[in-house]
Amino acid sequence: MEFIDRLLTCADCGGEFIFTAGEQLFFFDKQFKNDPKRCKPCKSKRASAGMKAGAGPAAAGISRTETRTECSACGIETTVPFKPTQGRPVLCRQCFQAKRTPTTGALVTAAATADMVAAGSGGERNSVGAELLAAAHSSQA
Ligand SMILES: [Zn+2]
Ligand SMILES: [Zn+2]
Repeated sequence: MEFIDRLLTCADCGGEFIFTAGEQLFFFDKQFKNDPKRCKPCKSKRASAGMKAGAGPAAAGISRTETRTECSACGIETTVPFKPTQGRPVLCRQCFQAKRTPTTGALVTAAATADMVAAGSGGERNSVGAELLAAAHSSQA
């Protein structure tokens, strides 16, 4: 299964945004059926509004818990803002960066998972996974 970046149109602001290969892989991995409908700014706007307003059971179901797990490559303890799937490799940032060029499906999955961690560590740690979940929930509703 191969993913390439796609250009989608935001349902909120009408602007174009990129549905990256990594995000597509994440959606595919989670068996989300629908493409994201909104660009990142609109999504986080809705996410923060939704959290405060309590946008229903979907929003309530999103936990901000960080899960402690071990890096599949080097074994150091790392935390991820989502629940890692059992038996699926999770990489710490160092190992993820060292394995930027995945060769197998398993590694692609690991890279995408680690990508979420890496992307989330820059200040919006918790929001990345939650945003994607929120998007999936709202697009399925
Ligand atoms: Zn938008
Ligand atoms: Zn590691």
